[in-house]
Amino acid sequence: MRPIDVEIFLFIDALGWELVERTGFMAEQLPFRRKIEMQFGYSSTAIPTILSGRTPAEHGHLGLFRFAPEDSPFRKLGKIEPLLRPRSFWNRGRVRNVLSRIVKKLYGFTGYFQLYQMPFAKLPLMDYCEKNDLFAPRGMGEIENLRDLLARTGTPGHISDWHIGDRRNFEAARQAIGKGKKFLFIYTAELDSLLHQFPAPPVSEPIREKLAWYADEIESLFRTCAEAEKSLRFTVISDHGMTPLTRTADLKSAVEKTGLVFGRDYGCCYDSTMFRATFLTPEAERKIREAVKPFETIGHWLTEEEEKHYGIFRADRMFGDAIFLMDPGIQIVPSDMGSKPLNGMHGFAPEDKDSQAVILSTEEIPAGVRRVADYFALMKSRIEALVPHSSAPEN
Ligand SMILES: [Zn+2]
Repeated sequence: MRPIDVEIFLFIDALGWELVERTGFMAEQLPFRRKIEMQFGYSSTAIPTILSGRTPAEHGHLGLFRFAPEDSPFRKLGKIEPLLRPRSFWNRGRVRNVLSRIVKKLYGFTGYFQLYQMPFAKLPLMDYCEKNDLFAPRGMGEIENLRDLLARTGTPGHISDWHIGDRRNFEAARQAIGKGKKFLFIYTAELDSLLHQFPAPPVSEPIREKLAWYADEIESLFRTCAEAEKSLRFTVISDHGMTPLTRTADLKSAVEKTGLVFGRDYGCCYDSTMFRATFLTPEAERKIREAVKPFETIGHWLTEEEEKHYGIFRADRMFGDAIFLMDPGIQIVPSDMGSKPLNGMHGFAPEDKDSQAVILSTEEIPAGVRRVADYFALMKSRIEALVPHSSAPEN
């Protein structure tokens, strides 16, 4: 077989197995296809897993926020909270976006930063996991990420800029091929936001259009390589699917009705699909478990076995003492992430059919690639298989 000149991995956020099956997305061009088990959590969990092959238990990213008064970078923000009145104004989406940018700048965060609907009063007790740009050199600290791997192996590589849109990232990828890059990781996230609005089924027109657009862009990459007489191996990977909304659950009111004091009796995060609680007293644990009881018909507390299976078990309980996961389709509203439900959401049980991710390729996919955490080993083996002795710098 001819050696591979260019190896491309295209990440399409939220391209689920169900959607691929329903639409037959690029079935001819990418005939090797497999359902992939989602990494429990959100994109903020899956991205560091894809970039390092490590699970959340190892890299420490689950929800964006976590209750951690001793590690909170926001301690000083507590002082300005009383000034932010009326609350309704400061909680508006657009105001929050501006505030997020200010806070990000103020703290010198280089990662993806959004306050979402995290109350200001709670911020000084919260840590935020994506303070650093995960894609940057040493972006994951001691853990080797994809960029570190490219640098260490001296592979002429290209990694998309996650700050810019899909169109520009495809353009940059075509240019990178022209510049002689051999390994490309293209990052795209626009399908995810569309699917939050238009979750399948049936597959809506905006989704069909977007998939057709991805197909065109992929074909264009094929052409770029063909014109340069470079052999190409191409693989699409994703992190999860999208689950249509069935109903909402107001866990927050139920917990707050206990009269327990946040920060004194307990801490917690209300993610869109799970409630992560830290119990500061045995009494608080009893009351919170009691308050959540009515929701046990539409969700459940994860067992230690489940946490281990999903790669999120930490003896230090960094992610919370207990995690209550909603059943597929049921969103926690209001949550720290939003005051309204979205038409579609991800972050439910990985084994649910709508959660499943995909890998699609021009060539046989090794049997060991079954979960999102397996992508990194695949990329690593492909990088190592590329012509090893090259001196072109990675960027
Ligand atoms: Zn999403």
